[in-house]
Amino acid sequence: MTVTVESEPALRTVSGRRLRDLVLDRTGDAGLAHEVDVVSQVLPFKVSSYVVQELIDWDRAPDDAMYRLLFPHRDMLLPDDFAAVELAMRTQDRAGLRQTVDAVRDRLNPHPGDQLALNVPQEEDADGWGLQHKYHETLLVFPRQGQTCHSYCGYCFRWAQFVDRSDLRLAVSGPEVMTAHLRRHPEITDVLLTGGDPLVMRTELIEQYLRPLLRPEHDTVQTVRIGTKAVSFWPHRVLAGREADELLRLLSALVDAGKHVALMLHLSHPAELDTDAARAALRRLAGTGAVLRSQAPVVRHVNDDPDVWAQLWKDQVRNGVVPYYMFVERDTGARRYFGLPLARALEIYRGAIKGLSGLGRSARGPVMSASPGKVAIDGVVNLHNGPAFALRFLQHRNPELVGRPFHARFDAEAQWWNDLRPYGEHDREFFGGAA
Ligand SMILES: *Cc1c(COP(=O)(O)O)cnc(C)c1O
Ligand code: SF4
Repeated sequence: MTVTVESEPALRTVSGRRLRDLVLDRTGDAGLAHEVDVVSQVLPFKVSSYVVQELIDWDRAPDDAMYRLLFPHRDMLLPDDFAAVELAMRTQDRAGLRQTVDAVRDRLNPHPGDQLALNVPQEEDADGWGLQHKYHETLLVFPRQGQTCHSYCGYCFRWAQFVDRSDLRLAVSGPEVMTAHLRRHPEITDVLLTGGDPLVMRTELIEQYLRPLLRPEHDTVQTVRIGTKAVSFWPHRVLAGREADELLRLLSALVDAGKHVALMLHLSHPAELDTDAARAALRRLAGTGAVLRSQAPVVRHVNDDPDVWAQLWKDQVRNGVVPYYMFVERDTGARRYFGLPLARALEIYRGAIKGLSGLGRSARGPVMSASPGKVAIDGVVNLHNGPAFALRFLQHRNPELVGRPFHARFDAEAQWWNDLRPYGEHDREFFGGAA
């Protein structure tokens, strides 16, 4: 008798200089492959075999949306920086190239929103590294082994963690750092495991972080969220084999113990849900009793089109995913390539939701996860002194500022919170000034 064991296929990824060969092989375009080579010296890129085979339409590369999301492009760097790296690759030794690359990286604002300085819990010693307790109720946990992804998004605001400079890293060494912080902070109701992508970790490790939350002393934690793009980049993580089955059992155990488990799925484009593997992954995850929610930034070249978002949210609703956030691309990394004016992000959001039923309109957006808090751009209004953005904090370090409408002067070019100015005197308190 033969026994067939369905197991997870091995994850194979391509990164670094091998991306050049992949692009050359798939497109036959030597110029494009060279540009890929130069830009991947600076920004981290990695693709799984699954995205190469299932998600990218190679006949349409480099214009295909998933290609744009996943592959380096020369416009991601300033022309001078591109030229400097290209020259250094040709003429300098490793140390010289490294210096050039580091200088370019430093100009790409590796730590947007003062993440390191402001959000790492202050009462911790070096061990506190890797927790982010910015909002009262929610603790972000960055497990050390989860600081990578199955593939990398070109727009990732965590790109600095993925390049090999130790001064840019942010991660906790083990679950004890998390549980100790939770004991000191009973106000925390939500634990959000994030990265990178925590689902790159073996199930046994994920379990080391999540099992302790079942102890009575952590009854204060009602919700466990896991941020992931594995459904898009490596759905096999939850499809078959022991690792997958044990992960699903762990999620079920948390649900059975009365926790709310939410998978915060990063979904950028309808192509990501358009494979049998992705849809099967969603069904398996939902089968644990976990809630599936989605979030993604609106970015140029990938999803800067209301019809793309409308399709994305429709497909999500059909597949049991609750749209949660449409984010604005952060002020870091390849923003010159992916960034959009806030006014355009707003048009895309409104253009997308107007054709959907209420179940497709549950995403809040466009939202900036900025240094003081999460800000929703609700619209453009005409006030007595000219047009204004109507804004609202969904989250703020100071809960008193949450949920109150306020205004910024309209600016057609503004792309981020730092570009906005208070409209009137009474708006100043929202911008950190006196009321
Ligand atoms: C977005 C975010 C959260 C979660 O906010 P919700 O409004 O609860 O989804 C928590 N902490 C940080 C630092 C965040 O950026
Ligand atoms: S999945 Fe998230 S953390 Fe990973 S590369 Fe994409 S944006 Fe960054």
